[in-house]
Amino acid sequence: MPRINEHYRNLRAAYLFAEIRRRADAFAAAHPEARLVDLGVGDVTRPLPASVVRAIHEAADDLARPETFKGYGPYAGYEWLRAAIAAHDFGARGVRVGVDEIFVSDGGKSDSANLQEIFATDCVVAVMDPVYPVYADTNVVAGRTGAADASGRYAGMVYLPCTAENGFQPALPDGRVDLIYLCYPNNPTGAVATRDALARWVDYARAHEAVIFYDAAYEAYIVDDDVPRSIYEIPGAREVAIESRSFSKSAGFTGMRLACTVVPKEAHGRTAAGETVSLNALWTRRIGMKSNGPPYVIQKAAAAVYTAEGHKEVRALVDFYMSNARIIRDGLAAAGLEVYGGRNAPYVWFRTPRGVSSWDFFDRMLATAGVVGAPGSGFGPAGEGYFRLTAFGSREHTEEAVDRIRTRLRA
Ligand code: PLP
Repeated sequence: MPRINEHYRNLRAAYLFAEIRRRADAFAAAHPEARLVDLGVGDVTRPLPASVVRAIHEAADDLARPETFKGYGPYAGYEWLRAAIAAHDFGARGVRVGVDEIFVSDGGKSDSANLQEIFATDCVVAVMDPVYPVYADTNVVAGRTGAADASGRYAGMVYLPCTAENGFQPALPDGRVDLIYLCYPNNPTGAVATRDALARWVDYARAHEAVIFYDAAYEAYIVDDDVPRSIYEIPGAREVAIESRSFSKSAGFTGMRLACTVVPKEAHGRTAAGETVSLNALWTRRIGMKSNGPPYVIQKAAAAVYTAEGHKEVRALVDFYMSNARIIRDGLAAAGLEVYGGRNAPYVWFRTPRGVSSWDFFDRMLATAGVVGAPGSGFGPAGEGYFRLTAFGSREHTEEAVDRIRTRLRA
């Protein structure tokens, strides 16, 4: 038998959302009469925009005709899609991003998971705590962290705690770090970074020769004008930041799979011998080795998002979910809970009642209200004592969940 990668044994037993599903399914099996409402996993529920659906049909027709058939596409995605992304997501906001700096992929999950493999295994990694679990887990299996202690902390990882006490804005690291994962708007806390806060991170990375992986998967949810949409709005960021975007939560592409990552030409790492290496060149090499790009049909569908009609439809989708966020925020606050997020982000984050752990609250909410949420501790040790609800449910489920929490959980 071959030896396995034993770093996998350092992961928690199950991926957070798999454990949520397991507990919810077990409860449903034991209580078939319970009508569960799921605001746990952050998956969208509205159908695709009409212009996207039209583009899918047209692209399918292209594949049916010999003169428009497509086989393998470019590794980094079709140029027409990358040009649209450069123009609309960045150029329209005065941010310069080259087409050859954009890499289209099948998801922000894969990009955020794969990024670490172009860095040395002895790089020190810093993650916001709590945060999307993929950044930590993929560094665990790469062997950068060792085993977790009883609280779930890995000795080899630098945690940047984000709690109500610091306004969910982490302090800069004390010691040396090489790779910093920042996620704004944040999953799960819903916090955003001001321009000054982001500028502090960029300055830090420049001064300490670190690289920032900036996950902007929820950028479409920013409503406040003074909140940056891209880290490249910050001077100097092109030398130290890699930014990831996703169509999942803006255009409803969670089942379609399309995202992109920007690796600027100015971003560099170094070899052990001290030679400077372009991260854009390394990522280009990685993509060429491991991917043949997302399907043509999906890329065509993504390009439809940038038409005038597509843009309007996506705006309506985001507005719909943000109305859900308002309903959740207001409802939980009315129930006397301490509520955060949900303003520039589709997640509402709140404290569990005093002395009740996140998982105990999960079980209590499931049993008394029939509502599935996400326990804060699943996103990192500093998430203990917090809980997340998503705004991606249907309006009916959102209202029902809030109503049940108000009337049943209070008692
Ligand atoms: N980044 C963050 C912070 C997320 O919360 C998610 C999905 O939940 C992703 C990335 C993954 O997005 P995608 O569907 O593009 O893989």
